[in-house]
Amino acid sequence: MKNLKISVLFVCLLCSSACGVQQAKQAINSEKQSTLTQKPKATPKNIILMIGDGMGISQITAGMYSNNNYLELERCTHIGLHKQHASDNLITDSAAGATVFSIGRKSNNKYLGLDSLGNPHQTILEYLSSKKYKTGLLVTSTIVHATPAAFYAHQKSRNDYEKIAVDLMATDVDLLIGGGKKYFNRRMTDSLDLIEVLKNRDYLVQDYFDQDLNNWIFPIGQKLAFFTSDGDPEKQSKGRTYLPSATAKSIAFLNQPNAKGFFLMVEGSQIDWGGHDNDANYIIAEMLDFDKAIKAALDFAQADQNTLVIITADHETGGLAIIGGKKFGDLKTAFTTENHTADLIPVFAYGPGAELFSGIYENTEIYNKMMQLMGKD
Ligand code: MG
Ligand code: ZN
Repeated sequence: MKNLKISVLFVCLLCSSACGVQQAKQAINSEKQSTLTQKPKATPKNIILMIGDGMGISQITAGMYSNNNYLELERCTHIGLHKQHASDNLITDSAAGATVFSIGRKSNNKYLGLDSLGNPHQTILEYLSSKKYKTGLLVTSTIVHATPAAFYAHQKSRNDYEKIAVDLMATDVDLLIGGGKKYFNRRMTDSLDLIEVLKNRDYLVQDYFDQDLNNWIFPIGQKLAFFTSDGDPEKQSKGRTYLPSATAKSIAFLNQPNAKGFFLMVEGSQIDWGGHDNDANYIIAEMLDFDKAIKAALDFAQADQNTLVIITADHETGGLAIIGGKKFGDLKTAFTTENHTADLIPVFAYGPGAELFSGIYENTEIYNKMMQLMGKD
């Protein structure tokens, strides 16, 4: 009898733990389904994905209070949070952090356009370009830096800038704006002239010697590559001013009547660099510059009514906190690290499909939602 009781108890324990596992599995599955089966009220023709590298809540807050308590970002109608962790690390870097947006799979830090096993996957930019969408990349880092590179390169090291530049030659992107010209025509690892390759592939290639980007009228009818610097572009505080006006002009350039739609990725690349430097003024200047680019995107989306704007970050940088200061300016700040942190990352959305971005979800969902809205699950 005693043995029977024990074995009944044992069976019950087994059953309850098996049921528990089953329930957990169902919870995970239903969580996955809930985001994929949520039907958008409308779908957009165009997507503008704006990535503030290293832009956590504190960076946004610091920008807002330094700007008389206002950011253009506030015009977004829907807000969510994403879980930034990478496959191999609780804290993502910008390579895995942008790869997850471009291929929808968590990856290892330093990997670009590869899953965690090293397998390459078509990026959203490559996919949409193959479907006759116009595509563009606009950044304030080099064009071969981790965030933009994740949309076209398939490499195990984000630091292989010259290999990344070669990968760009195989990508059908209509508009490229960023620094790093030297990785194309003054290469250390070979003597390739990738500027010539770009020209042979029908790009009009210009740089900061040829043109002031702010005054340049983008010619329609050709693919464009504009190098804003030889290495890294300047800080905003040292005179770099192109991001807001180039955002407006890139949108106008990509919004061609004969195209199916467009996909533009705009990066405020240096918010992250201010975080690594533990320099609050650097962060605030870059944040406000990025917010002006956000204004250009939202102004277009508001008038167009057919464009989804998504604004997010890959991760937070610096462990920034605002610990006092005069009201609306002169903030007292503190940093807890010179690296990235594991914080949840805000997602802001405006336009058709924006409601899909409410909630708390894995960073893979940014890709899934964009692909769902562009007609592919
Ligand atoms: Mg970046
Ligand atoms: Zn960083």
